[in-house]
Amino acid sequence: MVGLAALHPSMIRLTQLRTRAAGPGGRRRLQALLVPARFAPALMLYQLLSGPPLGGISDGLFAAAATAALLALVVARGRGLLTLAEHRSELLSDRTDALETALLARERATQDLRRQVDHDTLTGLASRDRFVDTLDSELAAWNAGGSRPSIAFLDLNDFKTVNDTLGHDAGDLVLVEVADRLRSALPADHLIARLGGDEFAVLIHGDPEVAAQRLLLMLRPPLLLHGHELRPEVSIGVTTAAGLTCSSGDMLREADVAMYTAKRRGGGWARYQSGMSAVLLEQLDLRSGLVRALAEGEIEPWFQPVVDLGSGRLLGFEALARWCRPGHPAVGPGEWLTRAEETGLVSAIDRAVLCAAVTQFAAWRGDSSCEDLELSVNLSGRTLQQPGIEDEVLEALRGANVPPDRLILEVTEQVLIKDAQVGERLQRLRAAGVRIALDDFGTGWSSLSYLGRFPVDLIKLDRSFTAELGRSPAAEAIPAAIVHLARGLSIQAVAEGVETHDQLQRLSRLGFRVGQGYLFGRARRAVECQTLIRSSRPEIGKAITLGAAG
Ligand code: C2E
Ligand code: CA
Ligand code: CA
Repeated sequence: MVGLAALHPSMIRLTQLRTRAAGPGGRRRLQALLVPARFAPALMLYQLLSGPPLGGISDGLFAAAATAALLALVVARGRGLLTLAEHRSELLSDRTDALETALLARERATQDLRRQVDHDTLTGLASRDRFVDTLDSELAAWNAGGSRPSIAFLDLNDFKTVNDTLGHDAGDLVLVEVADRLRSALPADHLIARLGGDEFAVLIHGDPEVAAQRLLLMLRPPLLLHGHELRPEVSIGVTTAAGLTCSSGDMLREADVAMYTAKRRGGGWARYQSGMSAVLLEQLDLRSGLVRALAEGEIEPWFQPVVDLGSGRLLGFEALARWCRPGHPAVGPGEWLTRAEETGLVSAIDRAVLCAAVTQFAAWRGDSSCEDLELSVNLSGRTLQQPGIEDEVLEALRGANVPPDRLILEVTEQVLIKDAQVGERLQRLRAAGVRIALDDFGTGWSSLSYLGRFPVDLIKLDRSFTAELGRSPAAEAIPAAIVHLARGLSIQAVAEGVETHDQLQRLSRLGFRVGQGYLFGRARRAVECQTLIRSSRPEIGKAITLGAAG
């Protein structure tokens, strides 16, 4: 029967892998089964020992030994099977554990991923995906009779500069602070998202104009960063869903266009209007052209001579930016400077011009004995609003081995109005020896009061006044007053835009000692200045002849 049992079909399944394999209980069952099985050989042995067996000693011994051997084999097989089953069950439970751990980890990763997809990790605001999804649902709800959604698109002005000058950690701090302010500006039911970089979007419930103004108000107070006071200026574009076919993509595009329009106006907010896109497209082309030009080094300084009006002696040069594309004529800043100002690119341009001009100037100083020549460089208000710009200027001079008193920085009065810190920066530069010129003097309206507050070293009479000289008897009144003012303040007056001998004579009579203009020479490439530096310097009047040809 034992032998037959081994042939039973169920024996095959004994070695198959099953989830509920025999545990330690299987072993005890086997032991228990073996107890009755031991009776037969034990009985035979007893009979053998207690009296003569039926079939003789050898037969009895044989039967007992055979039964015992058979039993031993059964036990061994049983043990083997049990060990195998236990091993497999262990293996299986290990695998189940591993599988459970993996499933748990996947669940957690999915949750993390969903949180990341829904939220911006830096600011905790909603992500672009979540914003788009929610806006899509709002549009669908509007189609079904709900309220018409509006959105605002925000972009920080000059954020790149914060990153470039104060580092990315500082940039991150600004973004977090801006996010907090946006959150506190609006009720909690407004979805606020960071779309990426320094771009934010708000899903507005209610009047978008009110929301935009509230956002501007909350962002206005300055924030303190590493000891620098920063004003997070922002441009906001708002739009309201136009038609029932309007998609979230359309709305974001419109708000973006409106935002750029606001930025072009110098910040604040603008509402999208059809026709805005065409204007912008043109300007965006110019912007990307400028970005490329900067990267390719196509923005370079040209140099216009500044002369002593009495002797015609060359006193120095004003560096004026030119966009020089290979195969194209050089383009002056009139064509692109406003766009560069609007997009914040002007600061990169100012830096490029300053560095190239200082390097060039140092080379001239090294070549010929012209230690007393001066270099004038224009700096935009935006550039002067950047913390640390004064150190950059001084570092550029140090690097090129140019004494600070050889540099004149030309700024406009609007620069001084903008922000008190600009005044402090200029004073620091002055303390180091750099001179400050108030450019285009007379065209603004606050010049006189600011002259008292921010001492400058030169004032430059705007060329519109020079152009008027000789045209009317009253034309001399303002230049005369400016010379008088300059004398009273012990600073130098420089006349711009001198084109004719008549203008030169009138300006000299009024008391102007220094000037520049087409009469003495237009702005020219550095290589074309070399002869001017060498030949015109000690010789009186030569610059005037040279200028007439230029
Ligand atoms: P600006 O500083 O008043 O420079 C003088 C401008 O008058 C220059 O124009 C110059 O070419 C022009 N000019 C010089 N002499 C005469 C003249 O006799 N007659 C006439 N009609 N014009 C004359 P440009 O180079 O086109 O520059 C225009 C303005 O762009 C500059 O006015 C300056 O404000 C700005 N600019 C130039 N380069 C830079 C720069 O590197 N950075 C910044 N921020 N602004 C710059
Ligand atoms: Ca200037
Ligand atoms: Ca000027």
